[in-house]
Parts: sequence; structure tokens; C-alpha cells
Amino acid sequence: MKVLVINCGSSSLKYQLIDSETEQVLAKGLCERIGIDGRLTHRPTGKDKVEIEAPMPNHTEAVSLVLKHLTDPEVGVIGSLEEIGAVGHRIVHGGEKFASSTVLTDEVIAEIEKVSDLAPLHNPANLIGIRACMELMPGVPMVGVFDTAFHQTMPEVAYLYGLPYEYYEKYGVRRYGFHGTSHSFVSKRVAEILGKDVKELKTIVCHLGNGASICAVCGGKSVDTSMGFTPLEGLVMGTRSGDLDPAILEYVAGKENLTLAQIETVLNKKSGVAGVSGVSSDFRDLGKAAEEGNHRAAVAVDMFAYRVAKYVGAYAAAMNGVDVIAFTAGIGENDISMRAKILSYLGFLGVKLDAEKNNIRGEERVISTEDSTVLAMVVPTNEELAICRETVALV
Ligand code: ADP
Repeated sequence: MKVLVINCGSSSLKYQLIDSETEQVLAKGLCERIGIDGRLTHRPTGKDKVEIEAPMPNHTEAVSLVLKHLTDPEVGVIGSLEEIGAVGHRIVHGGEKFASSTVLTDEVIAEIEKVSDLAPLHNPANLIGIRACMELMPGVPMVGVFDTAFHQTMPEVAYLYGLPYEYYEKYGVRRYGFHGTSHSFVSKRVAEILGKDVKELKTIVCHLGNGASICAVCGGKSVDTSMGFTPLEGLVMGTRSGDLDPAILEYVAGKENLTLAQIETVLNKKSGVAGVSGVSSDFRDLGKAAEEGNHRAAVAVDMFAYRVAKYVGAYAAAMNGVDVIAFTAGIGENDISMRAKILSYLGFLGVKLDAEKNNIRGEERVISTEDSTVLAMVVPTNEELAICRETVALV
């Protein structure tokens, strides 16, 4: 079956058409600036990429343009839309309602709408993408795959905050966690690579990208994760602050004459390694600046590694042990020195890095020494493939 995977944001839409039997990507691409002017980048496998400026007043137009390119005699990869057997949609927030992927029906969509309050920037955009696809591909089964679903197995001790309990009861204030599709994919892949049953493994997955989170996966289940009520908690990220003393908010708001909403924007968009360094959110830029003697860039990089190491230590405690520490996403897969920096804190757990094996980017590999009692691995994530698999399993 050919599965169209859609990841819809407020002004962008990423897509991949995947053949679920061979798991090959037939085409992928990106619509940007939807509702502003519109730009499409379409990459059909084995053919030249197409980059065009095209008006996209709304998401339905964007999906329509994608479908036109997928079926185009020259740059397309399928003969007609009938070849698309199902559509898998990435949905950011499933609240407590969705602990697994779900076939999208009118009732399910209404439930997703209800939890949109928890992800006001993301869920409405996801829903717009779903409705656009339903309009243009009537009758094609659609599946929603939630970023939060994998973490619904967390125990109360991990998901409750130390706040009045009524905030949880009345408003759903709790840890939800994100990147669940990636944490699930990587932890399963770790077991496959090692030829073990996922139920026997305690794995800590470090999803280190622009947005970054860590997950403790015990016997195949998420038992704790560093992102919380929103993706702002946890690690120091590209532009997000991660954990901080909440009293800072009012203090800085007073000093800088900012509203709480403005402070939240600062925490999301102007903080993290970008805010500390004043250089960039991109670790390649930070590495270069640090090499050239920029102290703040060097500190930002070190802070990132330190926070990751602290979380790994905490999650080893949460699971009473750890078998595998797995690195994934942009930084986890590619930043050789960052992996070394993080693991340099963790010798006490029994992990020993093999510097030569660590010298890779974007490949699946065990990077710890033969005699390391805890394995360190690089396992590239593939959220689109995970969404494709979930979709096929449900339709
Ligand atoms: P997201 O999906 O959250 O936008 P990614 O997983 O694509 O993020 O990761 C993007 C980040 O990965 C970049 O900001 C950059 O810091 C980092 N990155 C990518 N390639 C490299 C590399 N070769 N060396 C160091 N960092 C890299």
C-alpha cells in the first residue's frame, strides 16, 4: 500500500509518500508560507527536485498542489490518486484521550478539537491538514498518530506536578511529553538491532534536535520523559529554555516590563543555546564559534551536554538501571563531539565510549566499547516511517 504521511503546521506542510511494502520513500516535500504567498519543494525519488512559487491561500490549496505533483506525468511518482491507500497524519497533542494511534472519524476529530486547548499552536493546524485531505481524498482512510500517545504509560509519580491536584483534575495540567513517535521508533529499533525483546530492555532515548527530549523506556513503555505539559520543559534546546525556576518569570517580567505571554515567547524562541550564546541555535554554528574562542558559545554547548547527562542519570534511577543509551535526531545522529561530551559524564553508569566507533554521522551503530556494561548507540529516527507503519496497522 502507498501511504501519504502529512505533518501540517500553521503555515507549512511536510509530506512523504511511502510504499509500505518496501518502506521506500517515493517522494517527499514541503509547502511553506501557506496563507502568505506559497512555495513548494517537491522531491520525487530518482527524479530532479521541483521548486516553485505557487499561491497557497490555504491548506486545501497546498494539499491540492501536492497531490497534483504526486500524480504529474513528469515529476509525479504515481499514476492516479487511487494508488494512495491511506493517509497518516502527525498530530501533536492527544491529551489523555489518545494512548495510541486512531482511525480518524468525525467523533475522533471532535475529541482532538477538545484537547486543542492544550496545544493551541499545533493541533488546530493539524486539524486543518486533516480536513483538507478529507475534502480532496474522500473515502481514503486516515489515521492520526499523536506525539503524546507513547507517553500515556507514564506512572502518576512521573506525570503529576507538585501543584494543587485540582489543576490536574480541572485543567489537565500534567506531564504529557512529546516526540513520542520518535522515542517509540528508536527504542523498538534498538531492540531489533540487538536481537533482543524490547520487554527485556531499559533504554534511555536522547532525541536531540532543535527541539530535544529524553525518554526512559522500560520494557518498551515510556515511564518518564523530559518534555512536560508543553515542549518547553526539560533540556536546554535550540531556542527553548528547558527547566528553570518559575519565580524567574515574574521577576524578569517586572524588570523588562513584559507580560506573561511575552515572557513565554522569550522562553520558547529567544532562549536555549541561542539565548545563552547570542550566536545561533544551530550546533554547527556554535561549534565553529567555540573553536574561534567565543566563550558563550562554548558554555552553551557545554550546558546542553551537562543537562542531557543529568537527565540520563535521573532516568537510570527512575528505571533502577539502564541497558542502552541511544542518540537520535539532528544533533544525536550527527554531532560526534556532543555525544562524547555527554558520555564523558556517564562513566559511573558503566558506559565506555569507543572514540573510533563514535566517528560516524547518521548511521545505526553501537558506539561503546566491547567491555562497556551499558551500551551507547546511534539510531537515526524516522518519524514518517513510524507514522506509515502505524497507519498501515490500523487500516
Ligand atoms: P528539528 O526536527 O527539531 O527541527 P533536527 O532533528 O532536524 O531538529 O535537528 C536539527 C539540529 O541538528 C540543528 O539545529 C543542528 O544543531 C543539528 N545538526 C545537524 N547536523 C549537524 C552536524 N553535522 N553537526 C552538529 N549538529 C548538527
